[in-house]
Amino acid sequence: MLKEEREGQLDRSTTMVVLEKAQIEVLKASLRGELIQPGDEGYDAARKVYNGMIDKRPALIARCADVADVIAAVNFGRENGLLVSIRGGRHNAGGLGICDNGLVIDLSLIRYTRVDPEAGTIRVGGGSTWGDVDHATHAFGLAVPSGIISTTGVGGLTLGGGLGYLTRKCGLAIDNLIAADVVLADGRFVTADEQHHADLFWALRGGGGNFGVVTSFMFKTHPIHTVYGGPMLWELDQAPEVIQWYRGFITQAPDDINGFFAFLIVPPGPPFPEPLHSKHMCGVVWCYTGPMEKAEETFKPIREKFPPALDFVGPIPHPALQSMFDALYPPGLQWYWKADFVNELSDEAIQLHIKHGSKVPTMHSTMHLYPVNGAAHHVGKHDTAWSYRDTTWAEVIVGVDPDPANKNRIIDWARNYWDDLHPFSAGGAYVNFMMEEGEERVRASYRDNYERLAAIKSKYDPANFFRVNQNIRPTT
Ligand SMILES: Cc1cc2nc3c(=O)[nH]c(=O)nc-3n(C[C@H](O)[C@H](O)[C@H](O)COP(=O)(O)OP(=O)(O)OC[C@H]3O[C@@H](n4cnc5c(N)ncnc54)[C@H](O)[C@@H]3O)c2cc1C
Repeated sequence: MLKEEREGQLDRSTTMVVLEKAQIEVLKASLRGELIQPGDEGYDAARKVYNGMIDKRPALIARCADVADVIAAVNFGRENGLLVSIRGGRHNAGGLGICDNGLVIDLSLIRYTRVDPEAGTIRVGGGSTWGDVDHATHAFGLAVPSGIISTTGVGGLTLGGGLGYLTRKCGLAIDNLIAADVVLADGRFVTADEQHHADLFWALRGGGGNFGVVTSFMFKTHPIHTVYGGPMLWELDQAPEVIQWYRGFITQAPDDINGFFAFLIVPPGPPFPEPLHSKHMCGVVWCYTGPMEKAEETFKPIREKFPPALDFVGPIPHPALQSMFDALYPPGLQWYWKADFVNELSDEAIQLHIKHGSKVPTMHSTMHLYPVNGAAHHVGKHDTAWSYRDTTWAEVIVGVDPDPANKNRIIDWARNYWDDLHPFSAGGAYVNFMMEEGEERVRASYRDNYERLAAIKSKYDPANFFRVNQNIRPTT
């Protein structure tokens, strides 16, 4: 186990609770969904998460079919003193959807959507993916702000904040959350919104899975159907000028323009042109949501200033942009994440980015700088639990590779990169881009919202029943 992961361990050591067969049978009989145990066919598939580096062996996986199943599973976990994890889309970097020896509340069957086009809202089951939401909303010419990969779970991404292609135009995913149905640690079911359990609703918007199991989310939708977007790549020797220009551009650009900066290696296959295969490059992945007839003229000066070596930017249906990189990142790869918020990109920091960005170790590894401005800055830092409203970027360095033998290589690269850049950061990091890094890092990520979160945690989950997450400890 890695040092920082060891230091970050909460009391999840779970004295193995021995469950009577009869107790398990009672739970099994009370579920509409499935209860999966070690030895069952399908156990190994059911315990897998997206990050192939995570290998945990739960005692029980309750694949809940509805809210009643979730209530039964929460009550069973609490009454039997089990460690409990909540699993939505399985994407969490540190594998926080699963646990050793405990009970996994798996929401993957609670996967539904219902668009209300007149109200401009969508109700989404707690185990849905963003691909489900994009599919449902697109039919109505609508969209909800999420991330950049459609297989990511609505649950984890939203509760941690939700940064992606539409952040500058529509804010974070949480800024578009209207209400959430929640099963609390004591088994009660509540709906949280601005009028009801407003403290809980505040905490859910950024505080992660600390407060209960969200069985349903209600979001505001936006009239976005086809965007003008995709990747633009440049040779690495242009990286200094491109990144210097980008830092000024994206902080001044209209909210209609979103673009995240990346260092990457070009995949060695179609649709990428052969001369670029396996090359280290830098790029920006754009998403423009302004009037389509203005798109070409908006991007013309960029293309003239820095003629790209690859230009896949054009009109594209929003769900197609959202799923453009899905195939490149199938489940089961090895992932190691390091992250920070960044207020300013100094020339010195840019030098260091180029030093490490030009040594991306494997084809899937990458560094992204996601803009956190535009509409995300229209919400105050105390208005939701998500504190870093005054930052400019969420930086994420991800070492990724299919081969476990390359684990140390990708970890070393990500750590060395992060170690050099961290002194230039704003202090904390986006919780959804972190592995388990300990309480201090979690506190740093919530800053002065942490104490309020801890007080709300004390009210709704005083025993820290939901602790397999970026944990906020109750004050009591
Ligand atoms: C390939 C990839 C791309 C990503 N891209 C983005 C991106 O563009 N933008 C971004 O913001 N993030 C992104 N992320 C990070 C992502 O937001 C987190 O990994 C998030 O935790 C994933 O949520 P999940 O439901 O899939 O995860 P899971 O592993 O299923 O769950 C993670 C945690 O979320 C909580 N949780 C999940 N569902 C619920 C629920 N219904 N109720 C209560 N708690 C719940 C639990 O605490 C759980 O421990 C990406 C991750 C990956 C792997």
